[in-house]
Parts: sequence; C-alpha cells; structure tokens
Amino acid sequence: MIELDRRLTLLRGQAHEWAAQMRPHALEVDRDPEAVIRIVDLPALSRVGTLQIPPEFNPDPLVVGGEKFYLMSALERVVFFEEGAWGDLGIMLAAPGAPMTGIAVDTLGSPRQRELFFGRILERPTWTFFALTEPEVGSDAARMRTRLEGSADGATARLNGAKRYVGNAVRAQMGVVFARTGPGMFGLGAALVETDTPGFTAVAVDTIGVRGAQLGAIGLAGVEVDRDRILGSHLSPTRRGMWGWLKTFNLLRPAVATMGVGVARAAFEYVREHRGAMSADERWRLDRIGRRIEAVRQLVRAAAIAVDHDPSDGHLASAAKVSAARLAEQVTLEALGFFGPGARLDHPLLEKLARDARAVEYMEGTRNIQRLSVFAGVVKGRFDPGRSAGR
Ligand SMILES: Cc1cc2nc3c(=O)[nH]c(=O)nc-3n(C[C@H](O)[C@H](O)[C@H](O)COP(=O)(O)OP(=O)(O)OC[C@H]3O[C@@H](n4cnc5c(N)ncnc54)[C@H](O)[C@@H]3O)c2cc1C
Repeated sequence: MIELDRRLTLLRGQAHEWAAQMRPHALEVDRDPEAVIRIVDLPALSRVGTLQIPPEFNPDPLVVGGEKFYLMSALERVVFFEEGAWGDLGIMLAAPGAPMTGIAVDTLGSPRQRELFFGRILERPTWTFFALTEPEVGSDAARMRTRLEGSADGATARLNGAKRYVGNAVRAQMGVVFARTGPGMFGLGAALVETDTPGFTAVAVDTIGVRGAQLGAIGLAGVEVDRDRILGSHLSPTRRGMWGWLKTFNLLRPAVATMGVGVARAAFEYVREHRGAMSADERWRLDRIGRRIEAVRQLVRAAAIAVDHDPSDGHLASAAKVSAARLAEQVTLEALGFFGPGARLDHPLLEKLARDARAVEYMEGTRNIQRLSVFAGVVKGRFDPGRSAGR
C-alpha cells in the first residue's frame, strides 16, 4: 500500500481545493469550450499554468504548508492530476502552461530552448500544444508523414504535413511538433513552433468528450523553423530520436492514468452524494467500486514511483494506463446504472463523466498499444514487485 506522506498529502489538499473550483463550470465548458477563457483567472487554471517548470527556471513554485512543489516528479503529478480530473478533466486539460509539452521540452530541449520555453510560460498565460498524431497515423507514430527538412544554407528548416486531435491547438501560442527528419528510428525529430508563423493553421475538431481541451487539426504548409528551435540538436542521434520520445511518453503515462482514476472517483462520489437509500446489494456494489478505484490508484502510484526511478522503463505505467482507462469507462457507466432509465438526461454531470472517460483510452496511446508494452515488459522480466516499487 503506497500511502501519501505529509508533503504529498498537502499537495493533494491544495489540488483538491482548486479542482473543486472547476466543478461548477464543468457543464458550461462542455457546452462551449471557449468559456475556458472566461475562467482562466481561477487558480485551478492560472496557477497550474505556472507549474511543471523545472526549479532552475521557476522562482515561484507552489508552496503549501511550508513545502515547495514544482510538479516535476511523476508521483507529484499523479497526486495532483487525480484531483484535477476529479474536478473536471475537460477544464484541467484546457489549462495554459506546460503540461505535456513541458515534458518533451525538458527531455529533448537544450538549456537555451528550455529557458526560452519555460521563460515564456512564466511571463504570461501561454497555451501550448503537443502535436504527434496525424490524420492517418495515431498509434504507430513512427510512420508519421510530417517532414522537417533543412534549407539549402542550413540556417532554417521547414515543416510540412498535418496533425490531428491535438489538445489546445486552436488557443495555443506555441508548441512542439514531432516530425520525420529522415528514415529509420534515428530520423525522428521535434521542433518548437510559434503558432503565428506563416503556414501554421489550426481548426477545432468537434468531440463528444473532454470538450474543454478543444482538440484541433493542425496544418503545416512550409512552416519555417529556426535551427535553434529544433529540439535535441545538442543530443546524440540515439538520444534525440526514439529514445527521447519513449522517455517523454513514459513520464507522461502515469499522469494520464491518474486522470482515469480521478474521473472514476468523481462518478463514484456522485452516486454516494446523489443516490438516496440503497439496497444492501447496491451498497455492496458501490463499496466494490470504491475498492476497485483504490486498487488502480495504488497501481498508478507504483507506476509513477517506477518511472521516477527509471524514466526509460514505462512498462508498469502501461499496465496502470490499461487499468485506469478501463476503470474510468466501467465506473462511469456503472454509476449511471445506479439512477435507472433516464439517468443520462436527469444527471448531466454523470452523463458528461461517461463521455469524458472515453478520452482516457486514447490519450498517450490506446489500451492495445499499452498491452504490447506490458507484454514486452513481461518478456524482459520487468514486473518484479521490488523493481515496481522503485527499490
Ligand atoms: C482527448 C484526447 C486528447 C488527445 N490529445 C492529443 C495531443 O495533445 N496530441 C496528439 O498528438 N494527439 C492527441 N490525441 C490523439 C491520440 O494520441 C490518438 O487518438 C491515439 O494515439 C490513437 O490514435 P488513432 O486515433 O489514430 O487510432 P488508431 O491508431 O487508428 O487506432 C485505432 C484502433 O486500432 C487499435 N490498434 C492500432 N494499432 C494496433 C496494434 N498494433 N495492435 C493492436 N491494436 C492496434 C487501437 O488500439 C485502436 O483501438 C488525443 C486524443 C484524445 C482522445
């Protein structure tokens, strides 16, 4: 059992307080994602937007009970984002700042690139995006077609291609675009891109879940990129290609998994608060849901500890992501079942949670893809319990 120490308990308390401020806006943002702009001054958005910035660039970390938090460890993130997803996943994903993008920049960026990126985020509310998926290529990202090609004089490069389902693409001011720089596993690259660069376009894609995140389709028609904005140029080819990607995704994965736990918990607590007297069987079913949530939460925390211990090992995080995606889907549907026919009409928040839960499946790789990673981990003997706990 992984219990939270005093430090992490303080962090969870702060995150819960901020998350509770999002909840009253959940349905409004679901109806109109633009409403996020009207609530951007809530600490849940504005303050969170300045976290996940490495200590060397962040003079203003979160301080709770005398403890400083930068949200740079996977364990801190899972504690914090479980609460955020409990408050409202759509709004949480709509926060300005460095969520996914910051991990990529921190992993692949040079000191100057990191300073530029994190400095901008601290300077003013800045939305960022992380563009990997393409219209024809999602799970097998290595098959992507977007190209990053250098100019003849070598001073700049150009991006050509298209990306899809990119969170915050329409409202972002900058982000990271992943692209092919050549053939093979070393021919993968990423660049920091400003969205006002000529040739960059972004339009919203209509979605049924996490609508606050406003997924978008990005067009890249000869977008010019200065050489110093190409991430990982200072790294060896082996470190900037697939290795850099895998590390980025391993670090991200527990944070996505915890979102499934947060959504499931929101549905569970909704039933507890809004369902009147229950039969013994119903109480037993609800208690069982509570125990399932706790079990997956424990797995997610173990996965975060494992990734913090060794960011190149994301197998346990894949197992956690599989369990959390399933948990979110099952619990939100079971929660609707407690209210009988008409539940989706009578309980719009619960109905929304059931839609949002589906997003957990897709973010950072579907369950089938995570299962392939779990299988690879089993073959490599990575599921020894001692290792999993990061010892
Ligand atoms: C809420 C949300 C936010 C997102 N945010 C971003 C973002 O910010 N940036 C970004 O780049 N992308 C983002 N995505 C896109 C997401 O990463 C992709 O949807 C995901 O990687 C799956 O790709 P796909 O949709 O093309 O599905 P596909 O890859 O076409 O998969 C379709 C189905 O086939 C299965 N499948 C595919 N390959 C295999 C295989 N080898 N073996 C077994 N089964 C397989 C999958 O499991 C899935 O069930 C987001 C998606 C959602 C829903």
